[in-house]
Amino acid sequence: MRDQLRALYELQAVDMKITSATSKIASLTGSKELRAKYSAAKLALDKADKALAAYEAEVRDCELQLKSIEEKRNNFQKRLYSGAITNPKELSSTEKEIEMLKAKQGELDERTLELYDLVEKAKEKVETSKNITQTVETQARKAIKFENTEKARLEEELVELNKLREAEMSNITDKQLLSKYEAIRKHSGSTGMARVVDGRCEGCHVAITSYTITNLIKDSQVEMCENCGRILLLDVE
Ligand SMILES: [Zn+2]
Repeated sequence: MRDQLRALYELQAVDMKITSATSKIASLTGSKELRAKYSAAKLALDKADKALAAYEAEVRDCELQLKSIEEKRNNFQKRLYSGAITNPKELSSTEKEIEMLKAKQGELDERTLELYDLVEKAKEKVETSKNITQTVETQARKAIKFENTEKARLEEELVELNKLREAEMSNITDKQLLSKYEAIRKHSGSTGMARVVDGRCEGCHVAITSYTITNLIKDSQVEMCENCGRILLLDVE
């Protein structure tokens, strides 16, 4: 019996390595967070780009309007000072027109100055967003690369471990013992068997009764920890 239990214990060591490698693969999620961060940074950059483009378009529009107002005003002034207008009504309406154009020009000048400032600020924001996006992109690429390498390495390790498991399995002829082990392992979520170390179960650290110890020394049947139910191995010669 003890030889079978020892073989099972060897199998368990492999199973634990398999569990560890599998959970390591599952925990390789750092790049996911960085990918999300990159998407958010990219979105912020697009928004900053659009804001800048909108301000720049408005600047161009203001400048065009100013140019056309300037021309109009010049034309009115030319006519006014040329003496071509003699009708007092027309004279006063031309003067009014010039005043209106002046007022409009003033408004546009003010807005244009405001916009120059806004364009500068928007440019700074684009620059900052670009830097953040680049930094996060580099981090994400690095993380993806690391995860891919690590995953490949662990998967290779798993292939080897599964081969080893097959070999260990072939040493266990007591198939009933094997299925008991599998069931306990499934139930405990970790190990299916435990050694007795210093009179205690290695799995739950509760003391094993002397009755069970005696049975284990006799080695006539499978004994289980009364507390956690794991199959016990008393590793003595
Ligand atoms: Zn136990």
